Amino acid sequence: MSGAQGPYFDLRVERVVDETHDSRSFVLAIPDDLKATFAYRAGQFLTFGVHVEGHQWVRCYSLASCPDTESEHKVTVKRVEDGRVSNWFNDRVSPGLTLHVMKPAGHFCLQDREAPLVFFSGGSGITPVISLIKSALATTRRTLHLVYANRDADSIIFGAELTALAEGHPDRLAVTHRLDDVDGFLDEPAAREAVAASPEADFYICGPEAFMDVAEAALAAESVADERVFIERFATPDLDVPGSGTETAPGESEDAAEVYLDGEVHRVSVQEDETILAACHRLGIDAPCACTEGYCGACMARVKAGQVEMLLNDGGLDDDQVEEGWVLTCQTRVRSPGVKVEYPDAD
Ligand SMILES: Cc1cc2nc3c(=O)[nH]c(=O)nc-3n(C[C@H](O)[C@H](O)[C@H](O)COP(=O)(O)OP(=O)(O)OC[C@H]3O[C@@H](n4cnc5c(N)ncnc54)[C@H](O)[C@@H]3O)c2cc1C
Repeated sequence: MSGAQGPYFDLRVERVVDETHDSRSFVLAIPDDLKATFAYRAGQFLTFGVHVEGHQWVRCYSLASCPDTESEHKVTVKRVEDGRVSNWFNDRVSPGLTLHVMKPAGHFCLQDREAPLVFFSGGSGITPVISLIKSALATTRRTLHLVYANRDADSIIFGAELTALAEGHPDRLAVTHRLDDVDGFLDEPAAREAVAASPEADFYICGPEAFMDVAEAALAAESVADERVFIERFATPDLDVPGSGTETAPGESEDAAEVYLDGEVHRVSVQEDETILAACHRLGIDAPCACTEGYCGACMARVKAGQVEMLLNDGGLDDDQVEEGWVLTCQTRVRSPGVKVEYPDAD
């Protein structure tokens, strides 16, 4: 298989597209023998392992391309102020570079229904949403309304593509742009208006935390059932406050797990009701993670010794990976002394 390294596959960057002053798209070449591995559904994301300034980081980026309408795999990365990986992508990644990428994952996908669709999207939250829009237009007869918030007109990612899609489907797709510098932040009355206009719709939300809070509050106020609301969170949820404990010295506790990460070994006392990931973060060990809900795979590590219990695997690992001893550390507890787990190296 093409350069498989643990859960990572080597993919070459084929093309880089300037989208806005602070975002770029990266088109990845998928070799023939990885086409099946990298088959995906609209709304899913890829997880990248990258080395920046001597440290390995793991980050997820949604596919903005659509498997129903185009053959390329494209992710779009928006700069985050002082963000380590988003700026590295925008500054350093050029055609020809090889990236270390996990297979597609995620549940932010269309349901098999014919109800209208309403999307609340803010900033880079448009990436999975435009994929869903293209998929719904191509494969269903559903009507769609996108409420898309941005700081200003220059920050709108995929503005021209969205205009073309709306012009091509005037009876099915409506796009409402919301610009902070003109309209102010999206507020609950405006969000409720969009909800009330399509009370039977499926609702998809992806954007900055505060924006998503407003959309969720509007949906709750309009009594929309939870099963019709789909949310993709780009931010990593807060785990325990990092750095509030110390690692166990060798010999100090037989029960301490050994965690191999980024060329170092850490001795971590994992409490009975604590996951390996949470214990690492409690000690200030920067173990990778993203969703922390068992579906993205960003926190996967391989168990080298000892007994562990994985409470949930919601698609983050496939059967072969489980068979090979991989676990999702956000869902895994230690069940014996002498546990050793190793996070994969993307190189
Ligand atoms: C499922 C999923 C899909 C995603 N899809 C996309 C996408 O399509 N496009 C996209 O652009 N993003 C997407 N993201 C977000 C992306 O994964 C990254 O979280 C984002 O790019 C920021 O990463 P970074 O390394 O640049 O920022 P980080 O370095 O992690 O920094 C994030 C923030 O923390 C602050 N910070 C950095 N270091 C420290 C420190 N030591 N102490 C305190 N604060 C600090 C930074 O100032 C910054 O504000 C997605 C996330 C998920 C979970």
